[in-house]
Amino acid sequence: MEDMSQYPLELNGDDVPMVRFMNVSKRYGDLTVLDALNLDIQQSEMVTVIGPSGSGKTTVLRMLMTLEKINEGVIYVDGKPLTHMEKNGVLVPASDSYIRSVKGDIGMCFQHFNLFPHMTALQNCIEAPIHVLKMNKKEAIERAEDMLEMVGLADKKDQHPIRLSGGQQQRVAIARALCMRPKVMLLDEVTSALDPEVIGEVTNVIKKLVAEHNLTMLMVTHQMGFARDISDRVCFFFDGKIEEQGTPTALFDNPQRERTQQFLSAVK
Ligand code: ADP
Repeated sequence: MEDMSQYPLELNGDDVPMVRFMNVSKRYGDLTVLDALNLDIQQSEMVTVIGPSGSGKTTVLRMLMTLEKINEGVIYVDGKPLTHMEKNGVLVPASDSYIRSVKGDIGMCFQHFNLFPHMTALQNCIEAPIHVLKMNKKEAIERAEDMLEMVGLADKKDQHPIRLSGGQQQRVAIARALCMRPKVMLLDEVTSALDPEVIGEVTNVIKKLVAEHNLTMLMVTHQMGFARDISDRVCFFFDGKIEEQGTPTALFDNPQRERTQQFLSAVK
């Protein structure tokens, strides 16, 4: 059993990161997918995860989405444990109701946007704020209209997803996530399922978000140019660990580790 007394009940002080992975391990049977991962993401920081297939990139996001339990370690969001809760002065694995109460802090967009097909763009955006956050309908609609405008789709608010292009659907999915006012936004391969000609419209929306909205973001992408353009920091994953991390310029132009160099020369 892991000694949980090593983990603070809360993170305090002036420099509390928005997200902290502290010794986080995730295993499937004998396979260690995340190996004692330590990763801090500061408020308003845009961190991108790159790395070969199977290196654990998606698992990092899945752990933050609280979709599955971690085997060791603790994840904190805004200083509070996400994966654990306090009981008798120590952290214990979070209950489902605790997870429900904190998971609203995390917004997410996936490769496959999963919009509700029977709802318009606007209805997609107000559903969770009304039913999960208990926001009143007028306020939810105002917020949804603002977010749809931010992604450039104010004129499409009454369309159903099937009438929208893939790029437009992904922009609605981004607007929908933002309507929940998440503290952290996760983006998992948001451009991978898109036709090449619409990738730009989605990356431009994300660039605008980073520039204007000070959101804390963690993104997984295969698009190295995009990662270079918008990240404050890039983490190269290999075998469930951060092999190397740094500013985009440092990591892409002057990688120090051989595995990073090999990966980057293979994807160029
Ligand atoms: P990446 O996103 O970097 O491609 P993943 O995080 O998806 O990598 O996966 C990391 C490793 O974990 C892979 O070896 C994958 O096969 C394994 N894995 C992921 N999910 C499961 C699961 N539910 N059961 C068993 N193995 C899994």
